[in-house]
Amino acid sequence: MIPSSKIADVKAKITETRPIGADVTILTLECPEIAAAARPGNFVNIKVSDASHPLLRRPFCIHNVSGGTIDVMVKNVGKGTTLLCDAACGSSVMVLGPLGNSFGTGTGDFDTALLVSGGIGTAPMLFLEKKLAGQGIPFMNLVGGRSRTDLLTRGLSNCNTATDDGSEGFQGNVVELLSRILETTAAGRRPKVFACGPNPMLKALAKFCAKRAIPCELSLESVMGCGIGICYGCMVELNNADGQLETVLLCKEGPVIDGFRFTA
Ligand SMILES: Cc1cc2nc3c(=O)[nH]c(=O)nc-3n(C[C@H](O)[C@H](O)[C@H](O)COP(=O)(O)OP(=O)(O)OC[C@H]3O[C@@H](n4cnc5c(N)ncnc54)[C@H](O)[C@@H]3O)c2cc1C
Repeated sequence: MIPSSKIADVKAKITETRPIGADVTILTLECPEIAAAARPGNFVNIKVSDASHPLLRRPFCIHNVSGGTIDVMVKNVGKGTTLLCDAACGSSVMVLGPLGNSFGTGTGDFDTALLVSGGIGTAPMLFLEKKLAGQGIPFMNLVGGRSRTDLLTRGLSNCNTATDDGSEGFQGNVVELLSRILETTAAGRRPKVFACGPNPMLKALAKFCAKRAIPCELSLESVMGCGIGICYGCMVELNNADGQLETVLLCKEGPVIDGFRFTA
């Protein structure tokens, strides 16, 4: 968890916008304080407009950090994300962050990192793979989508893809691809899975890993308001250590959680 002294609320200039498909745009935001404190898995909460609507900020994973800038990868799904995807280069937005906890990349329980993502869930993986590469930890990306046009692999290294319709890579879902990789390329290794994507995918992945005692961390999403534990808008039910369901605030206890907490 980021200490509150390192969380900044800054007016960040949008220095670059790159559409990377019909409905996904990468925005580069100038915010040196946030870039300096960011860890893979953290997110930022962005006020997408100066107007009163949308009132609440919108949360986005930190996709990349470069010098004093961060990138966010935004999928256009509604009012707030449309405003952000259409934002002009040179304009500014208020950015609060970095928020939440981060992926656990300390070694000990693994020697190979398997980064499993689906759809816009690939957003945090670039920052994560750069950290792993810096630590000398071998990693592989497993990226899933319905079809090849849904795959967001831009910038990622060492990618294996899976599509439901077989239009690119392995035909099947990304959990089936993981199973294949564990029997082939990653056989004999001590893997750890880091994942982000739609909840049904993450649930299936959590169960798959729990059954095989593979350490697994998931970055979850929920509807979120303040991002700092005040509004109680991001309550989710997760397993506790005794296997009982408990209600937690995702912005405080997440967004990264241990996979066993998501197996119910
Ligand atoms: C910790 C965290 C990290 C996230 N990282 C990213 C990211 O890197 N890139 C990205 O594109 N999106 C990310 N999201 C999701 C993103 O915040 C939502 O898509 C966004 O808030 C929707 O805003 P909107 O105003 O465009 O949509 P709205 O007009 O508010 O809603 C449009 C549709 O999107 C759904 N929706 C709203 N909020 C969410 C949500 N949090 N998750 C899923 N569906 C939602 C609504 O139910 C509705 O169906 C993240 C969410 C969280 C909690």
